[in-house]
Amino acid sequence: MKLGKYSLGIGDRFAHQGHYQLQAFMETLERGVEITPVWNKSNREHQTVSSSPDSVRKEANDAVKSQGWSNDYFVDADHITLGTVDGFIEASDFFTLDVADKINEPLTRSELELFLSAHHQYFGELKIKGIDETFLVTEDVLSQIAHKFYKATRAACFIYDRIRKCKQGLPFVVEVSMDEVDDPQSPLELYFILMLLSENKVPVDTIAPKFTGRFNKGVDYEGDIIAFEKEFEQDILVINHAIHQFGFSPHLKLSVHTGSDKFSLYPIMHRLIKKYDVGLHLKTAGTSWLEELIGLAESEGSGLAMAKSIYNEALSRFEELTSPYTTVLNIDEQKLPSVEEFRQWSGERFVRALRHDQNDELYNPHFRQLLHTAYKIAHEKGGEYLDELKKNHQIIGFNVKLNIQQRHINPLFLGL
Ligand SMILES: [Zn+2]
Repeated sequence: MKLGKYSLGIGDRFAHQGHYQLQAFMETLERGVEITPVWNKSNREHQTVSSSPDSVRKEANDAVKSQGWSNDYFVDADHITLGTVDGFIEASDFFTLDVADKINEPLTRSELELFLSAHHQYFGELKIKGIDETFLVTEDVLSQIAHKFYKATRAACFIYDRIRKCKQGLPFVVEVSMDEVDDPQSPLELYFILMLLSENKVPVDTIAPKFTGRFNKGVDYEGDIIAFEKEFEQDILVINHAIHQFGFSPHLKLSVHTGSDKFSLYPIMHRLIKKYDVGLHLKTAGTSWLEELIGLAESEGSGLAMAKSIYNEALSRFEELTSPYTTVLNIDEQKLPSVEEFRQWSGERFVRALRHDQNDELYNPHFRQLLHTAYKIAHEKGGEYLDELKKNHQIIGFNVKLNIQQRHINPLFLGL
């Protein structure tokens, strides 16, 4: 059981698209590139749609069986903490340890003194192989890093130990995530985070820092592409350096949580992972749920009526739906279609506004972001929604597979 060099996290709110998602990986394998599928679902998603980690395991196992996938695959306990991990242990073999809430938990004066004296060998100039600039590590720099990340890496250790004890020798993949915060971590900070994780004996397989720029839900990256490129490249070099210096697995790799669809970054990431011949984990979420709406709208029948009723309700519950995601949304309410305008929309018009095709003049990222948060409404519709999924499974499945294949796998892993 091994997480391949390339791996892709796929989310599926309602657990109906697993086999269509897997078909995208199978077609990629036929082209000679293996990508390990990882089905991920966070505690928050489970709570919103009243599902359990067992349902993700079942979906993954069923998809693999029905499609005859004989390679590795994983079920990811996505963004778990010490408080939520227990319910995920049995069903999961990939754990994303979310320690973001422990970042910036300061050390006491004596803890800090102890930390600085134990790490005095790091004071001075730090050179990372492949990076031209030299980092100057002063007492100030190291104190700030300790205040920011010491407790967070301790937290990763506690969660990891908890899983290890419960798993009783069974293997599992370890990801550490710090991406759900406001401030990005610099490559120098990543270096010391890895140092701290190695001191805490957390055998990290993949690490998800917060990158520069905005990673809004379901839409493209907003930020300085050049700054992202430099940071991503330096992060790769820091990881390569840390593998040797701190004794991590030679397969340690970056994980990029995109909240779906950071298309402008894919060519950059593709070029750099090829340049350094390194692996990458990409985590998407919510993509398949939006493809469900696209498929329903394309049906032009009762599926379209369902998709339209979800938007109408989302519009009236805007605050409630968007408030948990304020750091990852950028919706201009003026640009959302009004109820009157929306009433006239055909299925095709709906699809063109929602589908992430930036070349389409009717594409509306505000509409898309709001619907990205609206899966709670589909859940409330219960069997009525699921019946529409079943009725329109072919057209939905076609969209689900095509989206993963053409918009994610091709540009990121195949350079197409
Ligand atoms: Zn994340």
